[in-house]
Amino acid sequence: PPLYKQRYQFVKDLVEKYKPKKVADLGCADCTLLWMLKFCSCIEVLAGLDICENKMQEKMHTLSPLPVDYLQPSERSLTVTLHHGSVAHKDPCMLGFDLVTCIELIEHLEESDLKKFPEVVFGFMAPSIVVISTPNSEFNTLLPGVKLYRHPDHKFEWSQAQFQSWALETARCYDYSVEFTGVGHPPTGMEKIGFCTQIGVFLRKYPQAGESVQSEKPTEAVYKTVFKAVY
Ligand code: SAM
Repeated sequence: PPLYKQRYQFVKDLVEKYKPKKVADLGCADCTLLWMLKFCSCIEVLAGLDICENKMQEKMHTLSPLPVDYLQPSERSLTVTLHHGSVAHKDPCMLGFDLVTCIELIEHLEESDLKKFPEVVFGFMAPSIVVISTPNSEFNTLLPGVKLYRHPDHKFEWSQAQFQSWALETARCYDYSVEFTGVGHPPTGMEKIGFCTQIGVFLRKYPQAGESVQSEKPTEAVYKTVFKAVY
């Protein structure tokens, strides 16, 4: 399957493993991953965030309940919301999530936004699991036609060592552990090059913050809610 599908499947497998109830997808683009995740029966709250409102709205209707959802209502409740905003800003609507996914997002952030990103995701949102994927620049020599970056909007592409040192420092700073993996295997004999897409799975080391702690994080709402569906 194409690489993007392998990344989505990786997230689905993670959801099946950890059974999070509340999942937020940062940089959700056209909501394809959110659409796939709505079929995971453990999930009760799904939220998407993107800085590009148009891209989010393209296939937003696929997140709406279908007639069958009304005719055969399921036991679980599911709320899906989409927000327009930046991962460089904190908004209280992003509190209380169990899993936060950032698939092919960080390489699109300007340096100043990348600096703010760990405090927003790991410090403020502080979910029990964070998954971050990004291109592995070492794999580019195997990709035909790639000159500097795989996509013109990429602000950087990191080697395995660069991603791992950033991730380990972020994990240390916010009291998470991190494990590295990826999708898109290198050819036999070239294992040192690593996966085409590198992935860090971060697990929070300290216990779940209670509801009371959330109210101790006073922040003004800055995101705009552009979609809400209740199943
Ligand atoms: N996660 C999706 C996937 O894997 O198919 C889309 C990845 S796309 C390459 C990167 C997305 O990040 C774009 O939709 C872009 O608009 C969004 N993005 C870029 N900067 C952002 C920011 N500061 N805050 C939120 N989203 C951002």
